[in-house]
Amino acid sequence: MDAIKYLKDHKLETYALGKKLFETPELGYKEFETKKIIVDYFKKHNLEIEQEFFETGFSISLGKGHPHIGLIAELDAIPTLGHPCANKNDKNAAHSCGHSTQCASLISAFIALSKQGIKKGKVTLFFTPSEEYTDLEYRDKLIKQGKIKYYGGKINMLTSGLFDDVDMFIHLHMMSEANYHFSVAGTLGGFVYKEITFNGHAAHAAVCPDKGINALNEFVLFDNAVNMLRETFVDKDLVRVHGIIKEGGQTVNSIPEKVVYECYVRSMDTDALIDVAKKVDNAAKCCAKAIGGTCKIKTKPGYLPFIQDKNVNSVIYRNMLKYCKPEDIISGNGTIAASDNGDMSIFKPCIEFGYGGFVGNAHSKDVQIVDEERVYLETAMLVVDSINDLLSDAKICKKIKDEFKPRMKMKDYLNYINNK
Ligand SMILES: [Zn+2]
Repeated sequence: MDAIKYLKDHKLETYALGKKLFETPELGYKEFETKKIIVDYFKKHNLEIEQEFFETGFSISLGKGHPHIGLIAELDAIPTLGHPCANKNDKNAAHSCGHSTQCASLISAFIALSKQGIKKGKVTLFFTPSEEYTDLEYRDKLIKQGKIKYYGGKINMLTSGLFDDVDMFIHLHMMSEANYHFSVAGTLGGFVYKEITFNGHAAHAAVCPDKGINALNEFVLFDNAVNMLRETFVDKDLVRVHGIIKEGGQTVNSIPEKVVYECYVRSMDTDALIDVAKKVDNAAKCCAKAIGGTCKIKTKPGYLPFIQDKNVNSVIYRNMLKYCKPEDIISGNGTIAASDNGDMSIFKPCIEFGYGGFVGNAHSKDVQIVDEERVYLETAMLVVDSINDLLSDAKICKKIKDEFKPRMKMKDYLNYINNK
């Protein structure tokens, strides 16, 4: 059966699945209901999942041997206060990053390919948990229980060898740019996570503030220092330092004993990332000391900048032109957002393309799907056409393989993410 015809004939079924997934938002490593919906959907189409991993992750394959193409569908949602579909039982999780739409689109593409059949090579659809870097206390618990090693779902998958057999990866993500139809070859930044605890000394805030050391003042001084450092950030590196106060004091009646600040340092450039992270550490230490207190800095590696594979992208771009004009495709744009796909792209040829069809900016309560045809049908047809092109073109597969150079050795990468 022709896969494209299948997708067109069954589009309403895909839209319904997409709606159901959009309305079932769950945070990372808790995507149990989402998984159940997808597994049941595959069963209905006589397809069985192949592997299960890391709480809620799973995969399903077609064909065998090489080339082996991996598809990445992210399962998780993100806390989004005020979103109409927010999961009130779990930190207002909502699909304001559109991950549910990746799942519905790739499920339909995979089913269409299964009806068509694959003559050569293999396709594996990976459902990856926990891309958003959030809800960290829950993940710390899972780490303690030995269920996961790292926050990012794909980092666990990558370091445990689940991707080893795959030759190249295709991923897709919603985009907020309403003026474009698709995006191709866009880069993503990297980030480092920090939790900084400012320690002071409590005293009655009215009777004897002179006896206290105000941890909130340590933080305020630090926050000003970071703002003064901003003029040293180089434009091309797209540096961002942004955070939240997790704990701002214990009671209004007392000088704050402890203040906890959580932040990301981001950049498109790995060296700048390391440099600014050091500046932030120095500012925290010196500002705490200036007020008479101390601070403790907990650093966790986030995600590395994403590197797009230009050869896989050439196939994707060619197929995009079936749905829109070249001027409707934004190419090579950089966004400072980060993803655990960045870490994968160090080791394997990877691409991520963007698709419109939404209103609202990503991660905001306003995110809604307004163009189901583009979000679900066009993306699925684009993926199916690209897979068929790649599997039937030994020359491009060889070029992809020959020209790809891993950016790090696994040993060095493990040292980096383990803070060694
Ligand atoms: Zn996302």
